[in-house]
Amino acid sequence: MPDLTSLSYWQSLASELKPEGRAFVNGRYQNAADSDTFACISPIDQRTLAQVASCKDIDVDQTVSIARSAFESGIWRDQALITREAVGVVAAIVPWNFPMIMASWKLAPALAMGNSLILKPSEKSPLTAIRLAKLASEAGIPDGVFNVLPGFGHTTGKALALHMDIDTLVFTGSTATAKQLMIYSGQSNMKRVWTEAGGKSAHVVFADSPDLERAAKDAASGICFNTGEVCTAGSRLLVEDSIADEFMALVRKQVASWKPGHPLDPKTNVGAIVDDSQLQRVLNYIEKGKQDGAALTTGGTQVNPVDGGLFIEPTIFENVRNDMSIAQEEIFGPVLSVIRFNFEEEALKIANDSVYGLAAGVWTSNLSRAHRFAKGLRAGSVWINQYDGGDMTAPFGGFKQSGNGRDKSLHAFDKYSEIKATWIKL
Ligand code: NAD
Repeated sequence: MPDLTSLSYWQSLASELKPEGRAFVNGRYQNAADSDTFACISPIDQRTLAQVASCKDIDVDQTVSIARSAFESGIWRDQALITREAVGVVAAIVPWNFPMIMASWKLAPALAMGNSLILKPSEKSPLTAIRLAKLASEAGIPDGVFNVLPGFGHTTGKALALHMDIDTLVFTGSTATAKQLMIYSGQSNMKRVWTEAGGKSAHVVFADSPDLERAAKDAASGICFNTGEVCTAGSRLLVEDSIADEFMALVRKQVASWKPGHPLDPKTNVGAIVDDSQLQRVLNYIEKGKQDGAALTTGGTQVNPVDGGLFIEPTIFENVRNDMSIAQEEIFGPVLSVIRFNFEEEALKIANDSVYGLAAGVWTSNLSRAHRFAKGLRAGSVWINQYDGGDMTAPFGGFKQSGNGRDKSLHAFDKYSEIKATWIKL
């Protein structure tokens, strides 16, 4: 019986993996037309995991034509009982932080509705999407219906977004890219654009919280889980002043239990930052927080639990003002900005003082306040006395510059269907 708690066991399994890096088009692996590739590098130790096809305009043209033919042939769309109509050819552009989940939230409703799909994974984490397409093919999805084109945003992604024969573009990623995709849509065929974008979510703890220990645990996991590379990270912690000293002592204790280390080691829980540019971005924000006068009370430096790895300590800034860049801008790393407040109205104003509106958490024993505050929050998901709950039946998406439309739940079908009214004169 292998020792499931040992790093060496998981490393030996990982060393046997030979991930496929070619594109998956029309039921087959294929190289980019010009055979160009880029390296997929592990942030744990900078090892090259695979060479990945770097797809360009010519690959996009060929794949859109294949997906269009598959759609028109009816081999897929004419199978399921459809009360709304499929939109046609869908392009999905997804980020690197949860590569399989973000892709699945798009491809499942897109395929269930009868569309043909071209998925472009992030250049920073392209391998799971390619594997997923092969598994879907083996499970019986017809050739040409589900294709994967790996490549970069400014080449593959841009070519998809500007293409005249793509009907709908669904996206998860940063707000800056989401805005650019809307421009590309206007410059091409007015394809529908649905975006799930960035966040800077407020996690609000009132003095009447029913369980400060539990709130502290959720405040820590809300910024440390997945190395803080989470769109809904509770990156702004708003704490009522009267309990702030006591509560922050609990939070610091909880954050100390989040240890950077090899992600295959079952004893660690903070992985590597995805690549060097993201690491530098997080470190730059930490410098900015110090320069702006916030108090760095935990972490703040790069660490090296694995040689060559890109790791950073979970970090807490206290005495933060909401106009500081570490409170306004999405850092996308394990950096928590703590802001104190005295009154409920003040807390709501601070929570909503953001260009983003993805999620929020509230801890209070007062049911009236919970309802009042949840209604006042301009955010797509609100959690009361917990943080980051959810399941596939509940819609997920953002207000304001966190995006439009909803993933998950029956509402997701709005993105992948057109509603037709047919009038018959009898
Ligand atoms: P990103 O915007 O840099 O990239 C996302 C995808 O867009 C990648 O596949 C990239 O190649 C592509 N892209 C980049 N520029 C492009 C262009 N000009 N044209 C076409 N495609 C282009 O985002 P990221 O750094 O990969 O991911 C982190 C971001 O994703 C964060 O802002 C995070 O909040 C957001 N995110 C949001 C959700 C959500 O559900 N709201 C979930 C996860 C991540």
